[in-house]
Amino acid sequence: MRIGIAGIAGRMGRSVAALVPGSGATLAGGILLAGERPPDGIAVYGSIESLVAACDVLIDFTHPSAVPDHAAACAATSTAWVLGTTGLDPAEQRDVNHAADRVPVVQAANFSPGVTLLLALAAAAARILPPDTHDAEIVEMHHRQKLDAPSGTALALARAIAAARDQTDTPFADANRTGQRGREIGIASLRGGQVIGEHSVIFAAAEEQIILTHRAFDRRIFAQGAIRAAIWTQNRAPGLYSMTDVLGIATP
Ligand code: NAD
Repeated sequence: MRIGIAGIAGRMGRSVAALVPGSGATLAGGILLAGERPPDGIAVYGSIESLVAACDVLIDFTHPSAVPDHAAACAATSTAWVLGTTGLDPAEQRDVNHAADRVPVVQAANFSPGVTLLLALAAAAARILPPDTHDAEIVEMHHRQKLDAPSGTALALARAIAAARDQTDTPFADANRTGQRGREIGIASLRGGQVIGEHSVIFAAAEEQIILTHRAFDRRIFAQGAIRAAIWTQNRAPGLYSMTDVLGIATP
């Protein structure tokens, strides 16, 4: 199986490129932005169209503005797409959904097995703990270069909790809650240093607190998950899939 990488000069692109050779798949090459240096010994293509023509699956950790072109290129060439870019707006998400009508797409805000399990655990806790007594809050921290806030993982956790409580119209609050007394799911985003990614889900009642925490210590955990997802797309029908599908994690 030939894997292509969009954003091959980025933090995640480099991590994926380093791990593909040991995965049983072949690294077809990648694309990058003008002025960036690719990792040594890796083929660089001039456009997304030429890269997807040379691979079976595209692993994509880039920027939301790249999504429309990458969606069109994958759909036009029947290339599977593993999409890790976060911070998509509704129009970009629609492009992803349209591509998934034509090709298998695995989209995840977080490719680590631990966070995939955390999503299921948070949903289970939200279902069991009464919403009128146990408020749900989320705290996330990432490195100072991260562009989007809250993180895609924090938003995915908030959506999972809201869905488990049948509160899909529950707003997600950002850090400024001055004067607010609502029952929204709060998300606090911290940025600093080189933190790879930390997420805590807090269920706070008057008499007790339950805190579920995940900490990533190395980007390889996301890269390994993305490569696993890429190999999983082989002979898969078109559709929009998650890491829950790839890992076969059933909600407890
Ligand atoms: P980065 O800035 O180190 O690398 C991004 C790369 O994307 C750049 O090097 C560049 O080559 C490319 N790029 C940027 N803008 C582009 C554009 N308009 N068109 C084409 N290519 C473009 O960032 P990173 O830390 O590697 O993260 C990239 C994305 O992946 C972010 O959205 C981040 O939140 C997300 N991410 C997801 C996971 C996950 O598990 N799903 C894990 C880590 C990061």
